[in-house]
Amino acid sequence: MRTLVVDHPLVTHKLTALRDAASDTATFRSLTAELVTLLAYEATREIRVQPTSVTTPVGVARGVKLARPVPLIVPVLRAGIGMLDGMTRLLPMADVGFVGLRRDEESLMAETYANRLPSDLTDRDTFVLDPMLATGGTLATVISMLLDRGAGSVTAICLLAAPEGLRHVEESFADDAGVPVVVVTAAVDERLNERGYIVPGLGDAGDRLFGKV
Ligand code: URA
Repeated sequence: MRTLVVDHPLVTHKLTALRDAASDTATFRSLTAELVTLLAYEATREIRVQPTSVTTPVGVARGVKLARPVPLIVPVLRAGIGMLDGMTRLLPMADVGFVGLRRDEESLMAETYANRLPSDLTDRDTFVLDPMLATGGTLATVISMLLDRGAGSVTAICLLAAPEGLRHVEESFADDAGVPVVVVTAAVDERLNERGYIVPGLGDAGDRLFGKV
């Protein structure tokens, strides 16, 4: 597994505004979309393409088009939904699957409550949207679900990551058997606090995107 921290000044500028506790919901949503589009630009650097040519007004140019099958975007419910707009701006032709996980309070294991994924992901580039890589448990489970279905690559886009979560995902996919697993994030913060929040982080991403419900 590989981690890519995108340290572009525009990314850091938008992340800084996103962190601000004074940013209201509308601002938080639009900054999230902009930030995801910038991260997606880096996250799609290795996306599969095939050669093509196009007729211009003055001749024929060689180029590329995205390979088939089209990529699959997987927002993790609930907060990942807030990242979908920013991602589909760059990949409007992609399919979208959905995964929802919650922690069983007795076993403390993550259990799946929503799963709308194609059963066969052979040769597909997949992009997981999960804003906060905290403990890494949810992300590791979703990556395994995609690898089990034969995904050709798995790239997770996270606004922020904690060192603990990155370590967990790195250890889980140290040997990725030739299938690239990449985490793309705008920053790696200091640590998790006792409530599992990233410090300094940006608070509860789901609540800031959709309100407390
Ligand atoms: N989920 C969040 O929304 N925020 C955190 O800091 C950690 C997990």
